[in-house]
Amino acid sequence: MTEKTTTANLEDIVSLCKRRGFIYPGSDVYGGLSGTWDYGPLGVQLKRNIMELWWKMFVTDRDDMYGVDAAILMNQKVWQASGHTETFTDPLVECSNCHGRFRADKIDTSKCPTCGQKGTFGEPRQFNMMFETKVGPTAQEVHFGIPKDTIEKLLQEPDEDGLVHIDMARLADAPPSPDTVYLRPETAQGIFTNFKNVVDSFYPDVPFGIGQQGKAFRNEISPRDFIFRDRELEQMEIEYFVHPDKWEEAFEMWRLAMLDWCVAIGLTMSNVHELEVAADDRAHYSKRTVDFEYDFPIGTEELYGLAYRTDFDLSNIQRVSKKSMDYRPKDGSAAYIPHVIEPTFGVERTVMAILTAAYTEDEVNGEKRIVLKLPKHLAPIRLAVSPLLKNKPELIGKAREVYDQLKKQFGQVMWDDNGNVGKRYRRQDEIGTPYCVTIDFDTLVDDSVTVRDRDTTEQTRVKISDLIDYVS
Ligand SMILES: [Zn+2]
Repeated sequence: MTEKTTTANLEDIVSLCKRRGFIYPGSDVYGGLSGTWDYGPLGVQLKRNIMELWWKMFVTDRDDMYGVDAAILMNQKVWQASGHTETFTDPLVECSNCHGRFRADKIDTSKCPTCGQKGTFGEPRQFNMMFETKVGPTAQEVHFGIPKDTIEKLLQEPDEDGLVHIDMARLADAPPSPDTVYLRPETAQGIFTNFKNVVDSFYPDVPFGIGQQGKAFRNEISPRDFIFRDRELEQMEIEYFVHPDKWEEAFEMWRLAMLDWCVAIGLTMSNVHELEVAADDRAHYSKRTVDFEYDFPIGTEELYGLAYRTDFDLSNIQRVSKKSMDYRPKDGSAAYIPHVIEPTFGVERTVMAILTAAYTEDEVNGEKRIVLKLPKHLAPIRLAVSPLLKNKPELIGKAREVYDQLKKQFGQVMWDDNGNVGKRYRRQDEIGTPYCVTIDFDTLVDDSVTVRDRDTTEQTRVKISDLIDYVS
């Protein structure tokens, strides 16, 4: 067996994901919807395994963590207080020739990447990436997306011809109507808005953290690179509340915990890079940020982030809500607004990094093989069970017995009696199944089965009574 050492390319991974039922383009049957992806039967299981491992490592296994699951729709004041309505923007440019729209910071604006014309881009404008919608039956009559009463307030005095104009300059700054809500662009704010609730219910000692997993939405100007930059995504975020004097040790604790996570999900650690983000490049609220980058097939790109957010969020909530966010220590010392360390993880980027690390091409007996070397605990299918032949009732009966026993123990076990044994192995290799168990005529005599290892392709005879231990 010889192994190919070159990095996986993105097309191979996308093709495998579609072919084998991990990830399909969103709304595929209708021609798709840009920036959306659907998880198939194997993809959803892989994603769940990742998210459950995260929840176990960072919430249930720890004494200093609480979990929440906040609503996706939130009061619009959340996003005004957090600064998202003002600053959650990307610079947008439009080509005056072909009307293609691009992120100004991602292209060379001297020449249009679509039509090739030069000098067709004007000044970039700030494009807000939040998806906006309305709550309840729309309370107000709306004209071209603008509530009628907003228009009425902006009408100017009739001109000399008696025509009434709208003050367009003020229209751009008009406040959103009260029924406007946004699909949340991050899960973090659902944690901050529950800080006081959790303190009131549980009165935890500082430092403590709150973790949340869930969907977030970003109206990206140009979604690209498979699931790397999409418009609907899933996040796993922690806000860890500390005394302002203790932020540095908490930051270091989480930096190491994030590295432990990268090991736990089987990433090639030489492909994980920590990047200390310079002050000029940090988000306005952050006093220190470390990005964890990964060598993806598309290049070295951001995988996770760790930020010290000071008291930015809780102070904003206190200012806008007029409710105190002070934490009162049990020892009677002075109350303070806690500072925050934020480790943040994207689920899709995790999936992409894991697939990148796992995707391998090698040769077995002179034949090319594609194999996903997923960590056992993340593989969507733990084991495949097959009777050697599918037309021998005594083999099938025995194989069903073994299958039922394994299914009870591991849940995700696949019955696979299609094609010959060699084809089954190839198929299971491609979806990352760590072991294939085959029941043959000898099994009927000696109660042993053949267990074939995905990574080494070695086959071992194992007693049925030892099987669960062997593959655990
Ligand atoms: Zn153009």
